[in-house]
Amino acid sequence: MQDQRKHLEAGSSSKSKEMSRLMLNPAKNHKPETYEDLKLDGSSLLLSSLEMHLPRHLLRAPRDQKFTYMRDILHDYVPPALRTRDQMQKEYREKIMSSYQPLHRELYTIDPVAFFVPTFLKAINDNTEKSFRSIMSEPAPGIFTFEMLQPRFCELLISEVEHFEKWVDRTKFTVMRPNTMNQYGAVLDDFGLQTMLNKLMEDFISPLSKVFYAELGGSTLDSHHGFIVEFGMHRDVEMEFHVDDSEVTLNVCLGRQFSGGELYFRGMRCNKHLNTISRSEEIFDYSHVPGCAVLHHGRHRHGARATIAGHRVNLLLWCKSSLFREMQKFKRDFFSWCTECNQEKKDKQDKLLSEYETSGMGPWRGESNATA
Ligand SMILES: [Zn+2]
Repeated sequence: MQDQRKHLEAGSSSKSKEMSRLMLNPAKNHKPETYEDLKLDGSSLLLSSLEMHLPRHLLRAPRDQKFTYMRDILHDYVPPALRTRDQMQKEYREKIMSSYQPLHRELYTIDPVAFFVPTFLKAINDNTEKSFRSIMSEPAPGIFTFEMLQPRFCELLISEVEHFEKWVDRTKFTVMRPNTMNQYGAVLDDFGLQTMLNKLMEDFISPLSKVFYAELGGSTLDSHHGFIVEFGMHRDVEMEFHVDDSEVTLNVCLGRQFSGGELYFRGMRCNKHLNTISRSEEIFDYSHVPGCAVLHHGRHRHGARATIAGHRVNLLLWCKSSLFREMQKFKRDFFSWCTECNQEKKDKQDKLLSEYETSGMGPWRGESNATA
């Protein structure tokens, strides 16, 4: 690792930085290397995608050379604050893992037959849009629901989280909650489930998102945030209206007995249009069923109503694509997936068209003159 860092620093001189360039158009016929064995915390897919954009003379270079070249470029993209955050997260996890003893070890390695219902497993194995559609409903555009998890797996996961919470109480460990909206809940990645959840994303969610969210980062998912939220008495009550820090969100109800807690969706929006009103066709409400999943894009605005009785536990997997996020930075004015952006674009075009017409230069004016 030390040697690697030296190499990167050496490669960061102004001269070599000038030379570190990517090509705008990918080499479409190039078959990129896999970088999975390098254990890069989920950026192996990003490197494979980036490889297509390498200067042509580097495409056939040894993998190590390509890797160093790309790491050099990516290194400049990661702000120092983020590097510190990653380091702190690593230390935080190591501290937990040095003392926490898992209760159900069978949860920590993916076992498809034990985890998933047979219909879901068959659809993923068949791996076609037709097989996916055969088990999924799309009750509103871009929102998919389907049966996914075995009841026993749901029970074991709830029980593991309870076991973790007891450990937190007993050791007085200062635990980080999943996000700013939740007072309760646990980050599964923090106590050893990261590898299992990464496999869940790569082998069971990516096949779906490649088909249903290809234009929205679903083809290049490369990292995740996996956590549990809990609602009810002595837990969180509701979830405010928000968008997720994800390209694709998997939300599965694990149980148990509860009433209320419906999800409400209100259309896709970019940051600029986050608080605009919803259109009637964007309004969709969903009642959770244990074992059943909801899949949606992260920018699909949503919230959860109050869980008025009982106890509701949900598994959330925020799947992210660093490549998609990089690409979005270049789009400053218009997002094709935002309803309001699309409307603004249309209004602008209409306005231009009508100005063109009233200026007397439009073909319509000419035609009306001709018929007068
Ligand atoms: Zn917008």
